[in-house]
Amino acid sequence: MTENIQDLLRRQRDFFASGTPYSVPFRKRQLQILADAVMQHETDVTEALREDFAKPPFETFLTEIGFLMAEIRHTIKHVDRWASPRNVPGTLTLLGAKGTIMPEPLGLTLILAPWNYPFQLALAPLIGAISAGNCAVLKPSELTPHTSAVIARICQEAFPEEYIAVVEGGVEVSTSLLAEPFDLIFFTGSTQVGKIVAEAAAKHLTPVVLELGGKSPAVVHSDAKLELAAKRIVWGKYLNAGQTCVAPDYLLVQRGVKDRLLHELKRQIEALYGDVIADSRHYPSLINDRHFGRLSSYLTDGTICHGGRTDPARRLIEPTLLTGTGWDAPVMQEEIFGPILPVLEYDDLEEVIRQVNAREKPLALYLFTESRDVQHRVFERISFGGGCINDTVMHLSSPYLPFGGVGPSGTGAYHGKYSFDAFSHQKGVLKQTTLFDLNTRYGKGEEALKRL
Ligand code: NAD
Repeated sequence: MTENIQDLLRRQRDFFASGTPYSVPFRKRQLQILADAVMQHETDVTEALREDFAKPPFETFLTEIGFLMAEIRHTIKHVDRWASPRNVPGTLTLLGAKGTIMPEPLGLTLILAPWNYPFQLALAPLIGAISAGNCAVLKPSELTPHTSAVIARICQEAFPEEYIAVVEGGVEVSTSLLAEPFDLIFFTGSTQVGKIVAEAAAKHLTPVVLELGGKSPAVVHSDAKLELAAKRIVWGKYLNAGQTCVAPDYLLVQRGVKDRLLHELKRQIEALYGDVIADSRHYPSLINDRHFGRLSSYLTDGTICHGGRTDPARRLIEPTLLTGTGWDAPVMQEEIFGPILPVLEYDDLEEVIRQVNAREKPLALYLFTESRDVQHRVFERISFGGGCINDTVMHLSSPYLPFGGVGPSGTGAYHGKYSFDAFSHQKGVLKQTTLFDLNTRYGKGEEALKRL
């Protein structure tokens, strides 16, 4: 396997050295080719995701295909400007000189993707790689084999292997790829594997973008519009059966409005999902038996206030609300990544700030309140990757916002121009004048200054 990978990388290095991927018109053409190929295979993608974990077609369109098409369109529209050199202001000591930032491609890039949005999270970084003028090797997740096969087919039909290649497989393949000296590794997955990736990258001093996970809180303050808050929390939490990196992991609600919020949450779950055990057409399965078992064990970490029924054969757990869960319960120790929402209470906002700050920096945070003061206090004093005020998850749909974590939830960011930047080196160049020469730097400062 290693020999095949090394041969592939040799061919990619030659192709990159030819300069072909640098040209901006070439990049735009490839993005259009990718868009056309995705649309051509829309039915195959939808079918593959259904086979992998019963993902409903509407969710597939919304969170995988639709997202990618919007991202490609945005990139094609703006890449000329992003790729252009930018002049920067001068300074007095650099009189006559001109400073320019020249974005350049990094070279050979490796993209490692997870299973939870297996199509989108493989191809969204690829848009960044192409737009910035790189070659790429893409490894989709082995846990979604049908989607992995469609990704391989789309890329094979759209691109020569020496430009964009898909290598399918699991940990062994990942490990072989990570041993090679790429110019960038873009990894999306768990914090635990993120550490393995960072360690492997360090051996070659390869830069990394790490899009990881964590426990993302949703905070509902007493002045929030509760019905709307419940609707948006339920949508963000149970989308993809809770298998979303930025899903609200747990809920912190101010004590006085807890009962009313729980009532609204139940109403919204019923309205959006109905009885998923009787009819699961609009609700995906959990990815495998291991995750089903892990998640089922959390059902005893509190009182089931809503949901809680399971179907092991179809790997289903109902959208569930847990109350009476303490900070020390197992469900509060790791990212839940499933359709179980523990609801904890607080009295004072300081308690929220202290508790969240005592844990690893989350990937996302959602705050529901009408108060600017509360918004200011929470967003100024808690560090997290990104988030929303009065919504969940939607921050990742803006191509103008950087999407990424901080510390244990990730390094670097992407989407829109941030994807282009993630896959580029910003080369700083100073063009000096030859019409005159200032003497100040040559050690005769005072005399030279007098002569000026
Ligand atoms: P994972 O870390 O298990 O796997 C991700 C990729 O790494 C896969 O391609 C897999 O083959 C590879 N891999 C797994 N173990 C490896 C090892 N020991 N050595 C080398 N490579 C290895 O993650 P997952 O289970 O596919 O995805 C779920 C996790 O990803 C969650 O923690 C979730 O929060 C996170 N996630 C983050 C984002 C984000 O944008 N920040 C998006 C989706 C998922």
